Amino acid sequence: MSDALAIVATPWKESIGTCACCGRTSKTIWGDLAQGELTVALYFVQWTLGAPEHAPNIDLVVGPWGDEAKPEHRLAISLLYHPAQGGGSFMVIDGEGRRTDDRFLCGRALKREDVVGTPLAQEVFALVDAVWLTEPRICEVKELDNAG
Ligand SMILES: [Zn+2]
Repeated sequence: MSDALAIVATPWKESIGTCACCGRTSKTIWGDLAQGELTVALYFVQWTLGAPEHAPNIDLVVGPWGDEAKPEHRLAISLLYHPAQGGGSFMVIDGEGRRTDDRFLCGRALKREDVVGTPLAQEVFALVDAVWLTEPRICEVKELDNAG
């Protein structure tokens, strides 16, 4: 294992909103994931504060970035996080209609069945692991694990 291959999250911004279903405060954080010098994905994590029964949303845009890269070279993949004592679990969901289903960001958003059971799924879970391990603000989402 080489450290050069580790995927590392770099936080960009965050925003506060209102949960559409219950009116409680929701928060979104986003940033990029890089492997060495290479940006490999963007991530968005959205959750409702103090509401572990609301599965946080994770939206990824996976693929090349930079001047030469075009949106059609990238794919949007969305997941839910289910908080649980000792650490929750991730589930791939349909990406259509999510915030990342945007032609300025990606060529298309994948459905759950486009991801589950394919080699891409391993890549997706490696990206999500990197967010959970290296994004400093994700501690706020992990707090939901103990709030249920
Ligand atoms: Zn709500």
